[in-house]
Amino acid sequence: MVRKSRLILSGLLIASFLTLSGFGFGQVIICKALVRSYENLKPVEVPQEDITPQWMLTLVNTERPLSGELDFPKDTINGYTFDARAIDDLRAMMQAAKDDGINLLICSAYRSIAKQTELFERKIRQYQNAGYSYEDAYNIAKTIVAIPGTSEHHTGLAADIITVDYQVLDEGFAETAAYQWLKENCTQYGFIMRYPKEKQDITGIIYEPWHYRYVGKNVAEKITANDWCLEEYIEHLELEREKNLTGQAIFAENTGE
Ligand SMILES: [Zn+2]
Repeated sequence: MVRKSRLILSGLLIASFLTLSGFGFGQVIICKALVRSYENLKPVEVPQEDITPQWMLTLVNTERPLSGELDFPKDTINGYTFDARAIDDLRAMMQAAKDDGINLLICSAYRSIAKQTELFERKIRQYQNAGYSYEDAYNIAKTIVAIPGTSEHHTGLAADIITVDYQVLDEGFAETAAYQWLKENCTQYGFIMRYPKEKQDITGIIYEPWHYRYVGKNVAEKITANDWCLEEYIEHLELEREKNLTGQAIFAENTGE
């Protein structure tokens, strides 16, 4: 027990030092070293998901709103801001579609909470001007514009993608060749169609065949293979972690650790 605690403590200290020094990759090495030493101690497999960087799994919805702006590296594609760590995959997807004769168009990507607040307040004013009370205007506005802090566009990992021939954000987009292409190919670039028709009860968002979310290739494949939405995947992950923790506890009991 003492040996393990010391190992964890020194690992954490070095990892913190490396974080402060800006050596992000150092943490990965330390974490891998910790996982390796753990493997000698317990018979629990580390799930693949556990090595997915946390930023790829950021979950934002009406139940898990952000309390402040997220800080992440930004870059732009066709004038739209996106997370710089994921933008190459987005570029590659747009290019691959083009090579297949499909002209995809990004029509929305990163949106700050400040910008969302502006849009939201404008919508409220619009209804107030039409004679509604503030409360009624607010309730109508939230069905049209996401409440600031609850939009996945705040993460910089979501993009609304349409096509030159069909530039309306409605279900009709699902009938286009562009949608078909995205459906067949987005996974291999690390994207998922975030708000499927049959998951509206879980996501709390209407069917949006145009809204794509970056989660990285491993996770995108897993979500697609299991027919999950992001909320279901995160829940699965939490259950797995719980199981592993229980596994560790049982092992510790058996070995007197
Ligand atoms: Zn969207």
